[in-house]
Amino acid sequence: MPSLAQILVEAFADGVDRLDAQLLLLHALGTSPTQVATRRAWLLAHGDDPVPASVLPAFRQSIQRRAAGEPLAYITGRKEFFGLDLQVDARVLIPRPDTETLVAWALEVLAKAAEQHGAGDIAALDLGTGSGAIALALKHKLPHLQVDATDASTEALDAARANAAALDLEIAFSHGSWLDPVTHRYHCIVSNPPYVCAHDPHLAALAYEPVRALVSGMDGLDDIRHIVKHASSRLYPGAWLLLEHGYDQADAVHALFTCAGYQNVESRRDLAGHLRCTGGQLPLDDETPRNPTSRQDFGMVK
Ligand code: GLN
Repeated sequence: MPSLAQILVEAFADGVDRLDAQLLLLHALGTSPTQVATRRAWLLAHGDDPVPASVLPAFRQSIQRRAAGEPLAYITGRKEFFGLDLQVDARVLIPRPDTETLVAWALEVLAKAAEQHGAGDIAALDLGTGSGAIALALKHKLPHLQVDATDASTEALDAARANAAALDLEIAFSHGSWLDPVTHRYHCIVSNPPYVCAHDPHLAALAYEPVRALVSGMDGLDDIRHIVKHASSRLYPGAWLLLEHGYDQADAVHALFTCAGYQNVESRRDLAGHLRCTGGQLPLDDETPRNPTSRQDFGMVK
């Protein structure tokens, strides 16, 4: 039997980088995502140990998949996001660390809303929830928050529901395009919509992920335009809409928010330093006519 170190060298020769190979080996050895850090240290110290025979075929197969370009998260079926261990597969976009900026911003906005209105009366909506990453991160951090989430893909909703069940977090999911299934109002609406241009060469590197979660028209802004236009009718006065977008779309998205009448519009950077999300606040004295049922009508306080 080859040693653990030998099969890692073999994987490297197949074109898989060292860290990915280590993570795939730990996965084949049955390591849970939360133990990866300590088990990596163990792996480095036990390079001379023989590979258990039962592990070798699965490991080699996973190396072939990775070498062919499949994302690591789809091979292991797991992705860590905002401290949560999520199950992911080809039905959903893989959560990116970039999106943690959006979650952190939403948590700030919601903490302020909770101070004003009481923690038990605050509601947030995640549009196009995919794996459920954003909605689940919000609910995990703010257990009293009412979190609703929509997705137009029933497959994605199945994946999100499975994550919510596995993490024991209660989210109200509904099926439909963007705001179509939404009847309540919210203190914060958040979304990581598709925002890649239809002809972006970058898409070649994303071929394993669902195209409907990535591509949004010729300039990548079709869905963002739709959300900015329609979200205000589902926000309380003074509530926030926060959207993720492409690294070069901040100016365009800023303009969309401003034209739609949002105030305090600003963009924030992701960990790589790109302006990755833009948000704005509905005016407090917003007079736009609205007809959705508000939570107040169900005895909720704004
Ligand atoms: N940030 C992703 C990428 O370009 C795209 C995600 C999205 O369209 N929402 O890799």
